[in-house]
Amino acid sequence: MHLQPVEVQKEIVVLGAGVIGLTTAIVLQEKGGYRVTIIADAFHGDVRNSRYTSDWAGAHHVTLSGEDIRLQKIDKETFEYMWELSEPGKGLAEGCFLRLKQEELFEDGYGDEAVLNYYPNIRTLPTVNLKAGAARGIEFETLTIDVPLYLSYLQARFLAKGGSISRGTVQHIGQILEAGPYIFHYDHQRRNFLARKVPVDGLIICAGLGARSLGGVEDRDVYSARGQTVILRAPWVRTGRTLTGKDWTYIIPRRSGDVVVGGVKEPNDWYPLPRPETRMDILRRGLALYPELAPPEVREKREPTVDDLVPLIVEDACGLRPSRKGGLRLEAKCVQAKDGRTVPLVFNYGHGGHGYISSWGSAFSVLEMLTEELKR
Ligand SMILES: Cc1cc2nc3c(=O)[nH]c(=O)nc-3n(C[C@H](O)[C@H](O)[C@H](O)COP(=O)(O)OP(=O)(O)OC[C@H]3O[C@@H](n4cnc5c(N)ncnc54)[C@H](O)[C@@H]3O)c2cc1C
Repeated sequence: MHLQPVEVQKEIVVLGAGVIGLTTAIVLQEKGGYRVTIIADAFHGDVRNSRYTSDWAGAHHVTLSGEDIRLQKIDKETFEYMWELSEPGKGLAEGCFLRLKQEELFEDGYGDEAVLNYYPNIRTLPTVNLKAGAARGIEFETLTIDVPLYLSYLQARFLAKGGSISRGTVQHIGQILEAGPYIFHYDHQRRNFLARKVPVDGLIICAGLGARSLGGVEDRDVYSARGQTVILRAPWVRTGRTLTGKDWTYIIPRRSGDVVVGGVKEPNDWYPLPRPETRMDILRRGLALYPELAPPEVREKREPTVDDLVPLIVEDACGLRPSRKGGLRLEAKCVQAKDGRTVPLVFNYGHGGHGYISSWGSAFSVLEMLTEELKR
């Protein structure tokens, strides 16, 4: 009798469980056929904190790629994949998205609408339709992401296909390279950690801001760009709008009926809590840009004021965007493990304010790089 040789799946560890780690893990698992373990010290579902930026995003898909050609491709791939996921009646995750009309408005001397050309039904806005001091504007279709639902969806999709999740703080990448994916598994019988030592075949770093202090990476180009938003309950708002200029103001309605009003981008500011004075500034700018934020019954009677928005507040949100001088780090190299094996290390972090916008395209690049490195 001939026994078929069993093909042993390669063991891959993804460090980080934010939108980047989760999306990367799914692509490696589903398209690459690898056995994937996610290791992280913060997850969606924990009490929200500043080590997990993904919980705090708006989030909409409006590319921030500028002239970066690599990022333009990544963002477009992500949009196409999310468009499929959100397809009415067919999309695997339709309920996590809201397809909507988006207006992008620009003050004189700001912005570049040319890079937005792939969004469906794009058109230049007539000057009479411009608001809040904008000099020009365009309108197109895109989608917003209901962040809490979508992160749960990604986690569930990964686990349902056999992925493993493990909680722990990695101090140095050498810890995983030596001990493997089960470093934080606890063996209850032996009352000890490290129940099983399994060699790791590839390590993917999706640590967001953590890449700054993670031993073996210690990327000093990574810094926080603080963001703050106000989430309103305003289900009557069903279109998005951004004004780019001296300030940056955006309105992101979610499918749930919540509306995220932002924002600020404060480089090298690590303060993890909402500031009350910023809340009022955001509401003032938000109302000027989008007076329909106020309840219809108020607008029928009089000009709305910021006070009309206060009763609609669900929460103040604040997150630290994992930004990086020089932009996103998406590259591979090989390192030597303690046992002498050469292990591919792939970096996928530094997405700043575009982690959702670039998530699937970045993950596809990781798959290509990892597969290439494993062939060597
Ligand atoms: C207010 C605001 C609005 C935003 N709006 C948008 C938007 O509209 N569209 C968009 O695309 N993006 C938006 N963003 C940006 C987006 O949230 C980020 O780009 C994205 O969440 C980054 O994801 P990440 O997975 O890289 O990082 P994170 O979500 O921070 O995840 C990092 C992971 O790494 C783990 N980790 C790090 N170091 C270690 C370690 N040493 N050991 C173990 N685990 C470790 C953490 O536990 C965590 O699981 C917004 C952000 C903010 C703050």
